[in-house]
Amino acid sequence: MTDPITPIPHEPAEGENECEHALVHLYEYLDSEMTPADERRMRAHVAHCSPCLAELSVEELVKQLVKRSCAERAPETLRLRIHEQITVLAR
Ligand SMILES: [Zn+2]
Repeated sequence: MTDPITPIPHEPAEGENECEHALVHLYEYLDSEMTPADERRMRAHVAHCSPCLAELSVEELVKQLVKRSCAERAPETLRLRIHEQITVLAR
C-alpha cells in the first residue's frame, strides 16, 4: 500500500488511464481504503464512464451478496450473471 498516487490530468487523451485507475483501485474503493482524493477521482470518473460504472456496480452487488450470505467469496457464476445483467442494462 505504498504505491505513490500519480495525478492524471482530466484530458480526453488520458481517458484510458482513468479507466485503468478505476479498475485497478476498484476493490480499494469498495472497501473504503482509498484516499479521499482518489475516491473523489473514482466517483468523478464512473459518473461519465458507463463501462467502469458497470464494473463497479457488479463488484458492489457481488460484495453485498457475499456479505449477506456469509460466504467466503462469490461463485464465479454469480459474478458472471450479475455482470451480464448490468451490461445489458447499460446498453
Ligand atoms: Zn472508465
